[in-house]
Amino acid sequence: MQVHWHRRDLRRHDNRGLALAAGLHGERSGPAVPLFIFDDAVLDHGSASRVRFMLDALAELRAEYRARGSDLLVRRGDPRKVVPDVATAVDADRVVWNRDYSGLARERDADVRQALVDADQPREAVHDHLHHEPGSITTNAGDTYSVYTYFGRKWKDREKDAPYPAPEADDLADISGDPLPSLADLGFDEPEGSVPEAGHEAASRRLETFCADAIERYEESREYPARDDTSRLSADLKWGTIGVREVYEATTEAMAAAESEAAEESVEEFQAQLAWREFYTHVLADSPRVVTENYKSYEDPIEWQNDSEELAAWKAGETGYPIVDAGMRQLRRESFMHNRVRMIVASFLTKDLMIDWREGYAHFKNKLVDHDTANDNGGWQWAASTGTDAQPYFRIFNPMTQGERYDPDAEYIHTYVPELRGVDADRIHSWHELSDAERTAAAPDYPAPVVDHSERREDALAMYEAARGESD
Ligand SMILES: Cc1cc2nc3c(=O)[nH]c(=O)nc-3n(C[C@H](O)[C@H](O)[C@H](O)COP(=O)(O)OP(=O)(O)OC[C@H]3O[C@@H](n4cnc5c(N)ncnc54)[C@H](O)[C@@H]3O)c2cc1C
Repeated sequence: MQVHWHRRDLRRHDNRGLALAAGLHGERSGPAVPLFIFDDAVLDHGSASRVRFMLDALAELRAEYRARGSDLLVRRGDPRKVVPDVATAVDADRVVWNRDYSGLARERDADVRQALVDADQPREAVHDHLHHEPGSITTNAGDTYSVYTYFGRKWKDREKDAPYPAPEADDLADISGDPLPSLADLGFDEPEGSVPEAGHEAASRRLETFCADAIERYEESREYPARDDTSRLSADLKWGTIGVREVYEATTEAMAAAESEAAEESVEEFQAQLAWREFYTHVLADSPRVVTENYKSYEDPIEWQNDSEELAAWKAGETGYPIVDAGMRQLRRESFMHNRVRMIVASFLTKDLMIDWREGYAHFKNKLVDHDTANDNGGWQWAASTGTDAQPYFRIFNPMTQGERYDPDAEYIHTYVPELRGVDADRIHSWHELSDAERTAAAPDYPAPVVDHSERREDALAMYEAARGESD
């Protein structure tokens, strides 16, 4: 028997470590004993929406194993002790897991590896979470790329593996598993927002629907939040309810079916987003400090203003900037936010409110069902002009023109800001220019802008210039 320790790979299909443990590639071995451990050190970084999604995904995974005469072993505790204990209890020939690249996970995995070495239990960690492992795409000098462009070119040119086969009844150990804890057992309340259906079946449906249609117009459509034309696979990729090879294979099929240059370019644009995800994971693996520190150095600390009332208005979606408020309310309602709007709200927090990106990152971490350390950090540091490939600090989004350009008919705003439903798009996009009397007449319950964008733009430039950044 070989134990496969599931972590952020909650699927049976296209799972390299599981396929290895089940004897489906590499040397013949198996059958696999699937294991999941609730680790309080990891749960401390969890949030209600993400743990809800994870529990739902685990329930599906367990049902898949049960349907094949096997089960999921479920434990709660410190993996440093639990993994060797389980390996001993089932008399495992080997313990296998897929590597995880965050700093916390790497420390834990090194300790678990050592505990297995000490117990003389064979073990193997394999690469599964990305197409190309951190350290495998580097500059000619062997360094991790600090800008995306060259990374992206190399990523695109590299061959991609085909999906790994999923274990069936014969490949899985005949074991009885354990009940799953509830959200409350794990110390979480029900999430404020809805959470998408979790599991491989739902993820495959999302992928299929997207590749059947929206992928061909993705390049343009992805910018317009009201169209909702993106794949919505982020939580699946975060939790591994779908494998990256399966996703990529679907995109190559979409490419083959594309009948115009524009459609082909759109498929390529989508593949490039998958490469961005890998780029940020390479950056995180190389520089774990980015979770708390600026990636890019400024000569002096940036003097963020960190006004608590403005931060509260931003979190509540009450800033009086309609596109910002719509995004922040989508986040609360759906535990998700469209990418274009993430960029707008992040720019607004850091450059209009002059609040430290770490506050925004913490709020996203608390609310997003797809929070992923590498991508979330990459996105925030990009917006704050402190990251790799960051916006130069003097490029400051104007939240009104962003709203006008990307939500011209205010459909997205109307969806998430009910107070503005009776107000036409022109007045919404000039909300900052209306008099108080006009605003009160149009939407009495919707606030006036909390700050003046033009003034704050100048203040933010001064703040960055005082820190003497080298971002230009
Ligand atoms: C401030 C900020 C915070 C963000 N936080 C996260 C996060 O916590 N988790 C997360 O997965 N993405 C994050 N993103 C990136 C992006 O917004 C989401 O991946 C995307 O909106 C998810 O929707 P989708 O799956 O429909 O994306 P699609 O457009 O369909 O993209 C497909 C996949 O590519 C990846 N991807 C897309 N855009 C990016 C990007 N800019 N950077 C890295 N990977 C990308 C994601 O895995 C995504 O699921 C953040 C962006 C910003 C600006």
